[in-house]
Amino acid sequence: MVKIIVDNEKCTGCGSCVETCPVEVFEIKDEKSVPVKVEECLVCRACEAQCPESAIQVIE
Ligand code: SF4
Ligand code: SF4
Repeated sequence: MVKIIVDNEKCTGCGSCVETCPVEVFEIKDEKSVPVKVEECLVCRACEAQCPESAIQVIE
């Protein structure tokens, strides 16, 4: 199963990953991105590519 890791040290809570993900995997909680629906992930890696802080890792 795919794992999604968000580095809370790097994440600024900008919300860009929430907008980018086609299947709404992410939510912002306490100004950090949290992958709440990992089971929906399509492994398109758009979130990884677009995060301005390189805070997201998608691991297969
Ligand atoms: S795009 Fe990156 S910095 Fe912005 S909320 Fe998502 S993980 Fe955090
Ligand atoms: S890899 Fe694609 S589907 Fe999976 S969380 Fe990132 S943007 Fe969403």
